Amino acid sequence: MAITEYLERIYGGTAEEYARRAGEAMQRGERLFIVTANPEILMHAQRDPEVRALLLDPEAQIVPDGISVVKAMCMLGLEARERVTGVDLADKLLRAAGRGGKTVFLLGAKEEVVSALAQKLRREYPGVTVHYRNGYDGDKDQIFDEIAAIGPDLTLVALGAPAQDLLIHRRLKDFSKGVFMGVGGSFDVLSGSKRRAPAFFVRTNTEWLYRILREPSRLGRFWNNNVKFLGEVKRAARQEKG
Ligand code: UDP
Repeated sequence: MAITEYLERIYGGTAEEYARRAGEAMQRGERLFIVTANPEILMHAQRDPEVRALLLDPEAQIVPDGISVVKAMCMLGLEARERVTGVDLADKLLRAAGRGGKTVFLLGAKEEVVSALAQKLRREYPGVTVHYRNGYDGDKDQIFDEIAAIGPDLTLVALGAPAQDLLIHRRLKDFSKGVFMGVGGSFDVLSGSKRRAPAFFVRTNTEWLYRILREPSRLGRFWNNNVKFLGEVKRAARQEKG
């Protein structure tokens, strides 16, 4: 299966514009499923039919979470303005939900992390309703039954990709409204438990380098996903030209 199939589906506008659109969908009470795509999940789709089906589902809106995804789209001649990072988008959606006095469900991360984020939101936005469950205790489908009974305006799932995205995809039909997004390690950052890369790395699109410098064991994972991914995209681009 050619990697181009997924790349063609990825949003190519600005992060600001996407956050605005998603915020409006939340205000209007629409159902929206956002997938943040990095090379890891795109490579995973090559060997896992469930992930492939998720990425090709017309209901999944995919945004480019990583500079190599943006580069890959450009190599194929697709419009790709900039990265739309999961952590920034999650932050913007939480702020929009806070300001609008909406109901939010946070699922995932360690108890102390997710409860700290819930407290922070309640402190900053007295009108918001926040429910949460950590990502380690309890059956995920039972938790999703609870979420369905509440019907939140925004549900963020922080269990790591692709498990979080597959879980949302499987349960989406139980909801008539709400914005759903898998957010990986974002709760750790948004709660203040883990520091994000310094602004310089964010600005220069080199957060990946910062992470490798801090955790050299990530190098193998980086090589396997990013370098192989760009190799595959180059091959696909050559085939399209030829
Ligand atoms: N996590 C969880 N339950 C699990 C495994 C992971 O809640 O069984 C959480 C973990 O605490 C972290 C997030 O999922 O907050 C995954 O973060 P990571 O940075 O590994 O994900 P990525 O952003 O790479 O998808």
